[in-house]
Amino acid sequence: MKDFPQHSLKVILAAPRGFCAGVNMAIECLELSLDLFGAPIYVYHEIVHNKHVVESFKGRGVQFVNSIEEVPPSSLLLYSAHGVSPALRTEAKDKKLRTIDATCPLVTKVHVEALTFAKQGFHIILIGHAGHDEVIGTMGEAPQSISLVETPEEVEALPFSRTDRLAFLTQTTLSIDDAARIIEVLKKKFPQIVGPKKEDICYATTNRQEVVRQLCPQADVVIVIGSQNSSNSQRLKEIAEAEGKPAYLIDQASELDAAWIASKRSVLITAGASAPEKLVQELVERLQNEFGATVETAKLREEKVHFSVPKELLLAEQNRKTSSVKTLTEHSRN
Ligand code: SF4
Repeated sequence: MKDFPQHSLKVILAAPRGFCAGVNMAIECLELSLDLFGAPIYVYHEIVHNKHVVESFKGRGVQFVNSIEEVPPSSLLLYSAHGVSPALRTEAKDKKLRTIDATCPLVTKVHVEALTFAKQGFHIILIGHAGHDEVIGTMGEAPQSISLVETPEEVEALPFSRTDRLAFLTQTTLSIDDAARIIEVLKKKFPQIVGPKKEDICYATTNRQEVVRQLCPQADVVIVIGSQNSSNSQRLKEIAEAEGKPAYLIDQASELDAAWIASKRSVLITAGASAPEKLVQELVERLQNEFGATVETAKLREEKVHFSVPKELLLAEQNRKTSSVKTLTEHSRN
């Protein structure tokens, strides 16, 4: 029998964790596209921000591109879950590319809000991270009418007055606390500012963050499964640190350093919205096999959100089914 460390280690599995409805839908779009149309399929940027998901699609003939120039004419191009700007859509149209839009509807909601505020003559203060795909896409809806801020200090430096028509929006995957702090400063500096009717930070980001915050007191260390470029995964790690716990963001079980859990009694495991559950289970197995860990799931929220793939894909699938039924019928008649 294997010798485990003297102390017992408990794994607390946070729930909900991992894939959100937007990521599920984007992956389903790409799976279905491969099935219906075959490779090669082009995707603008990463379909979701996860190394494993991207690598596995690359192995099946999906090519991830950073510009429309890289896509051959008449090819099939998929827009990722994070959305794209209208300028990019126009570029793809001009090149006569066939496109499928896998943008998460909750990202589209922010695009629509940006466009609506801009049309109403508001200048929009977008709270988000510079360079993130979602922020680039949203700013592209009304480039002349949007300013990006990342910190309360940047709000203080904004060149607007209390008589300007201002509105704010946020990226969907921000830290709830950071966003609330920035909004507070915005409202203090510009009392006339208006916001979205309903929160822009999405349900999945909110749930994963609140669950980690609530479970942190029970844990000695926190491990987040997710990629470094995943905004919501980074926020989960930061929240655990803000709660005073050592926290690590890793892509897979092999990156776990045994020193992180030496002499620890409980480890909280969660996963960013783009991290596959398989990777969580591999980490749990490693902790069970090497450290004799016991496992308990702490489910603090229910999630029943589902987004359907775009109509054009459903229609293509329907057509395929109809034509295969026709072929079968004709075959049996002959
Ligand atoms: Fe959509 Fe939220 Fe998932 Fe982003 S994290 S894809 S906004 S559900």
